[in-house]
Amino acid sequence: MTLTGKKGLVLGVANKRSLVWAIAKRASEAGADLALTYQSERLAENVTELAATLARPSVILPCDVAADDQVDALFAKIGAEMGRLDFVVHGAAFAPPEALSAPYVQTTREAFRMALDISAYSLVSLARGAQPLMTEGGSLLTLTYLGSERVLPNYNVMGVAKAALECSVRYLASDLGPQNIRVNAISAGPVKTLAAKGIAGFNDILGVYRDRAPLRRNTEAGEVGDTGLFLISDAARGITGEVLYVDGGYHVMGM
Ligand code: NAD
Repeated sequence: MTLTGKKGLVLGVANKRSLVWAIAKRASEAGADLALTYQSERLAENVTELAATLARPSVILPCDVAADDQVDALFAKIGAEMGRLDFVVHGAAFAPPEALSAPYVQTTREAFRMALDISAYSLVSLARGAQPLMTEGGSLLTLTYLGSERVLPNYNVMGVAKAALECSVRYLASDLGPQNIRVNAISAGPVKTLAAKGIAGFNDILGVYRDRAPLRRNTEAGEVGDTGLFLISDAARGITGEVLYVDGGYHVMGM
């Protein structure tokens, strides 16, 4: 699977454990030119240092997806520096920590708004910004979790946000398909990342997957990277509106 001559935006790298970092590495190895974003100045150095280890030089830009002016500025800069885009990898997600430990019934209006805005609406606004730059078709890829369909301990409002995200994947696929822009999601099994640390009892979930997933092991970031490369490449040119599970098969189990 080659991405030679392709240009991509990867949003959601915090550190080397980030799932989208695994996709960025594979995309760069496959020949893509990348723009990487950081959420805040606190993460700028991390992202710049990681980008320096990639096979090809990258454009590094700020973007807090909760701020429309930052999203607009991001695409203006990408247009100026890269000319066009072939793919966008979206890995931004957030819910206030207290919403990921207390019972779901306690979720505040503000926590609900914030989780849905940052974790789901952001895909819509990024798709709208990327659309005019995807002059030769393109691929949008996001990351989701099984907590969108099943009740998993403490996933709470993030599960509701992921349900909205997956539904947005289908509506965006329908809107953008006539321009040959594909929209898909990877539903990853649990992987220890910065975001995962915010979910109370996360280590217990890892143990359950190890014991019960058909492959009897936890998901590795590299597996998400390989499937991400597939979905953004032309090898997946017939796939859109899809949620593809990279979870060792856990989602098929009844118990
Ligand atoms: P991570 O902490 O490395 O990545 C989350 C990213 O979201 C960070 O880079 C953070 O800066 C970014 N972010 C948060 N708020 C933002 C904002 N306002 N603007 C811009 N960026 C913002 O953790 P991760 O686990 O790699 O998460 C990436 C994606 O994968 C998320 O959508 C997550 O829900 C999803 N996912 C993770 C797992 C897992 O177990 N780790 C499983 C399935 C899906």
